[in-house]
Amino acid sequence: MSAAKHHEIVVLGAGVSGIYQIKRLVDLGLDAIVLEADEDLGGTWYRNRYPGCRFDSESYTYGYSFSKELLDEWHWKERFSAQPENLRYLNFVADKFDLRRHMRFDSRVERMRWDEDRRIWHLGLANGGGYTARFVITGLGVLSIPAVPRYEGLSEFEGDAFHTYHWPKQPVPLAGRRVGVIGTGATGIQVIAEIADEVEELFVFQRRPNWSTPLNNSTISAEEMAGIRARYDEIFAKCARTHGGFVHLAEQRRFWDVPPEERKAHWDRLYDTPGFAIMASNFPEIFYDREANREMSEYIANRIRERVNDPVTAEKLIPKDHGFATQRLPLETNYYEAYNRDNVHLIDLSETPIERFTRTGIRTSAGDFDLDLIVMATGFDAVTGAWDRIDIRGCHDLELREKWRDGPNTYLGLMTCGFPNLLMVAGPQSVSGSTNFPRAIESGVDWVTTFLEHVIGERRTRFEAKPEAEKEWNDEVVEAQNRMLMRRSRGWFTGYNANVEGHGEGAVRYVAYWGGAPRYHQRIDRVSKQGYPGVDFA
Ligand code: NAP
Repeated sequence: MSAAKHHEIVVLGAGVSGIYQIKRLVDLGLDAIVLEADEDLGGTWYRNRYPGCRFDSESYTYGYSFSKELLDEWHWKERFSAQPENLRYLNFVADKFDLRRHMRFDSRVERMRWDEDRRIWHLGLANGGGYTARFVITGLGVLSIPAVPRYEGLSEFEGDAFHTYHWPKQPVPLAGRRVGVIGTGATGIQVIAEIADEVEELFVFQRRPNWSTPLNNSTISAEEMAGIRARYDEIFAKCARTHGGFVHLAEQRRFWDVPPEERKAHWDRLYDTPGFAIMASNFPEIFYDREANREMSEYIANRIRERVNDPVTAEKLIPKDHGFATQRLPLETNYYEAYNRDNVHLIDLSETPIERFTRTGIRTSAGDFDLDLIVMATGFDAVTGAWDRIDIRGCHDLELREKWRDGPNTYLGLMTCGFPNLLMVAGPQSVSGSTNFPRAIESGVDWVTTFLEHVIGERRTRFEAKPEAEKEWNDEVVEAQNRMLMRRSRGWFTGYNANVEGHGEGAVRYVAYWGGAPRYHQRIDRVSKQGYPGVDFA
């Protein structure tokens, strides 16, 4: 690595986090670059090109808030904007602020080694290149490592097969084809609803159903957009004070104080309200109180029964193993109606599991399904997956993936002890995975930038989280999760994915902070104001 190029700061990832992070750093006149594994910027919105892929945060809360000019210039066309537009937006931001020249594409970092003598990081790239940096900031994303199922015969299938994350750039023909979709999480639900009327036959291979509620999307006219622009300050202020970082205000009444018929009327309103209102503006008890959750789940189950014509199919689509909102809630548009179509078939893998892939399709215990295309909407090695893919060695050759083997440990989701001069935006145990992502990363980037200004201003060359501060934060993360009914659910919110070794049955990991956005932001602000008592400087 002797020919390695040096920059004071290297940012990993040119997605939503990395784009804003580099903007802040270059504005301060710091010597910084972004290394991006892909051939272009955009991260999640560059990769996920599958049909139906769109925001489930209100578009105008997903965009960056840091520039009034940017807010004035960009017109969101839909309340929940789709992937092509979202990628255009990120490119617009990068071009407007001339950020591309600070980005190096096709630069996948494979190795990072801390050099205690020189107090720098050495970074080794898959393409053979190398960099050194005083400080490294990760913007690796929480859902950037697809998890492919480990079925026998996968490579024998002669049709097209890919994970949704790897949906090709060139158009994929759907008309006249027999398509299988494996997985019914947020991604599967979007794909299924979108392609049901385009394909000849659609076979949905469902292992466990998810609860899902309407997205209630609509277009945004120029006039409406002008109104949104005038209210941007108010919108962002609202996001900052709500638990999930969304525009939906919390319900103030207590579940048990409201008569059942009024509760139902409230839920009827929420079911027709766009976005995550059905969670964010619901009675908080549904997240903590088993009985309240049971009643809410039954309400949603009845909505599914109303929408699906065949009662047997409806029952198969209703989760029986977990309550409403105890896993990530997928939002849908005409998902349940897809099952009323003659060309859509639900294959219940809990009754007839997949045995293997074959040359012509998928074999379940009930028989063979011949397919032209298999779409794997099977989720991600979430939150820590992207860190695990890099061989990161800190003090005394400590390996990060070894330290995090049973789950991540961090200080405020922003750094982890044993790994000096390494900062994480959207890190494990922050609120980036548990609340409105861009709102969380914007404040994460701001915190990291202020912290680095402090470090550089004080002429420090080394910082590291203190072990006792990390332990204290870990305890808070565990306590917040354990208060909720979702604490042991089988979804990525608790670090579960059976396709990833060690992350399957029985493994409970604490990968996100569930105490809410306002509490988290107050906590990290307090730490800055107190002069970072949980950090050792040298
Ligand atoms: P996911 O929520 O982890 O769902 C994966 C699905 O695949 C589950 O239904 C799972 O079944 C199934 N599955 C996994 N392995 C399987 C196997 N070997 N055989 C059969 N089925 C298998 O993943 P996702 O749907 O990609 O969503 C991940 C996250 O991405 C979301 O929760 C969300 O945060 C984000 N996302 C956001 C949007 C948006 O609207 N902005 C859209 C899509 C995704 P089990 O439940 O039985 O494991």
